[in-house]
Amino acid sequence: MSSVDAVTAYIGLGSNLEDPRQQVQTALQELLVLSSSCLLNCSSLYKSRPVGPQHQPDYINAVATILTTLDPYQLLDHLQALEQVHGRVRDGERWGPRTLDLDLLLYGDSMINTPRLQIPHPEMVNRAFVLLPLSEIAPMEMEIPGKGVLKSLLEDLAEGGIERLE
Ligand code: AMP
Repeated sequence: MSSVDAVTAYIGLGSNLEDPRQQVQTALQELLVLSSSCLLNCSSLYKSRPVGPQHQPDYINAVATILTTLDPYQLLDHLQALEQVHGRVRDGERWGPRTLDLDLLLYGDSMINTPRLQIPHPEMVNRAFVLLPLSEIAPMEMEIPGKGVLKSLLEDLAEGGIERLE
């Protein structure tokens, strides 16, 4: 049973291992059937240079938006379960390569700061591979809680290292 009113949430997807394009496309299909949720929209796919360690393949990224009655922790549980289905191995390397990374970027206008979950995702405003796909499916005037308006954040972003795929 649902525990909260329906909320719009944004999810960042990324992969750079084992056919990353397919990993992201499959994950989008899986979001289509996520429990207590409805996939509203998804961005184009983007190719981006890795953040952090450079000795790893480029990433494929996208952002999706869902309407959900899962609470944010339930939603994170589901996203982490999907990462496991995709064979995600957590070896402790920060920003290391991964078959699938699902980040809960935004959950309505909530601000959450707990050890397990921070929303808005703390790094999202610094990352072109989040803000560019987000700007395809979210209003440019959208306020990222505690961070600013999407349009301004995009203007402040350093360009480069990212390419939109057809
Ligand atoms: P990562 O290695 O980037 O997938 O980070 C995963 C860890 O970040 C997990 O332990 C999560 O509990 C934590 N985390 C905190 N905030 C978020 C968020 N907004 N979305 C996804 N994971 C988060």
